[in-house]
Amino acid sequence: MTASEVRALFAVASRPEVVSLAGGMPNLAALPLDSIAGEVAGLITGEGLVALQYGSAHGVPALREQICDVMALEGVSGHPDDIVVTVGSQMALDIVTRIFCDPGDVVIAEGPSYVGALGTFASYQAQVVHVEMDSEGLVPDALRQALAAAASQGQRVKFLYTIPNFHNPAGVTLAVSRRAEILEICRQAGVLVIEDNPYGLLGFDGQTYPALRSMDPDNVIYLGSFSKTFASGLRVGWALAPHAVREKLVLAAEAAALCPPTLNQMIVSRYMATHDWKGQIKSFQQMYRERRDALLSGLEQHMPAGCTWTKPEGGFFVWMTVPEGIDTKAMQPRAVTARVAYVPGTGFYADRFGTRQMRLSFCYPTPERIREGVRRLAVVLEQELEL
Ligand code: PMP
Repeated sequence: MTASEVRALFAVASRPEVVSLAGGMPNLAALPLDSIAGEVAGLITGEGLVALQYGSAHGVPALREQICDVMALEGVSGHPDDIVVTVGSQMALDIVTRIFCDPGDVVIAEGPSYVGALGTFASYQAQVVHVEMDSEGLVPDALRQALAAAASQGQRVKFLYTIPNFHNPAGVTLAVSRRAEILEICRQAGVLVIEDNPYGLLGFDGQTYPALRSMDPDNVIYLGSFSKTFASGLRVGWALAPHAVREKLVLAAEAAALCPPTLNQMIVSRYMATHDWKGQIKSFQQMYRERRDALLSGLEQHMPAGCTWTKPEGGFFVWMTVPEGIDTKAMQPRAVTARVAYVPGTGFYADRFGTRQMRLSFCYPTPERIREGVRRLAVVLEQELEL
C-alpha cells in the first residue's frame, strides 16, 4: 500500500488562502440541518435501543427497501434481500475485491480511474490493467484488446471495474449506445462487471442513464452510496449483487465490521421517509451545475492554448490535459505557492501514466472562488510554458 496523493494534498489544499480544486468533498451546505437534528433526536428517544444496538450484517431491512427505490430511478429492479449495506461504497469495493481477487489477478479499470478503488486493488495485490476512454466513456474495442492481451498471457481477469456515470476523475459518461456492447464483451469473456455509481443521480439536467445492472443483472455487482446524495459522513453505501455472490459479501462484511452502523442507517432511512430527498438531490444538481459552469467558463477564458478538458454533464470533476513538456506533478508545488490546488493525473493510474493530466473538482468552492482558482492556475501554466 502507498499513501494516496489525494490525501497528502488535503493538508495544503485546505489552507484558507488556497483555492482547492483538488478535493472531492460533497458540498453539504444545502442540507436542512435543523430538521435532520429533530429527526435524529426523535430516533434516539423513540427507537434508541434498536438504533444504538448491533444489527444484521445485511443492513437495516427498511433501508434496504428504500435503497431499491433509489436504484429504480436508474432502471434497476433489485430485491432488498440482495442488497448488502456497507460503510460507504468504499467498503463495498473492499469486500468485493477481497472475495474475488488473489494476488496477481487482473482487474480491468478505466484509465484514469478512482484513486480509492486503485488503493483497494493494490491492497489485495491485484494487478490493474487500464483501458482507455474517450468523450463517450470506456472504448469497447480497447476493452476487447485488453481482454485478448490478458488471455494470451494466461492472466486471470476477475472483473471490469467501471464508473459509467459522471466519472471520477475523467468527468465523462458512458454512452448509452455502448452499454450493451460492453456488457456483452464482459459476458463473453466470463468477466464480472463492478458498476460503481455514486454520482448517477447528479446529472445537471436531472437526466439519468440505464444502469448496467438493469441490463445484465446476473453479471453485474452494483455499488451505490448516500455520500453524494445525502451525507458522506454517515458512511452509508451498498452493494447489490447477484444472489450467489450476495452471501459471500455478507460473510466478508461480517468479518470486516460485524454490521454497518445501525444508527447511521436509521438516520438515512428516517431522512428518506420524512424529507423530500428527491427535491434535495435536485437542489444539489443545481448547485453543482452552477459550479461546473463557473469552472468551464473560467477554463475557456483563461487557459493557454494547447490545454484540453472534458465537459461533464454531472458529478464533481473535470479532467484536463496540458501541453507537452509540462509535468503536472512537478508543477504542483508552484501551483500551491500561487494558492491553487489540483490533483496531478498520475494518482489516477496504477502505472504512473497521467503526467500531463490533472483533476479539477468543482464541487466544493463557491463559483467566485472557482473562477479565481482558474485564473491563478492559468498564470502558473503560462509560466511553465515560458520555462
Ligand atoms: N467510488 C467513487 C467513484 C467515488 O468517487 C467515491 C468517493 N469519492 C467512492 C466510490 C466512495 O464513496 P463512499 O465510500 O463515500 O460511498
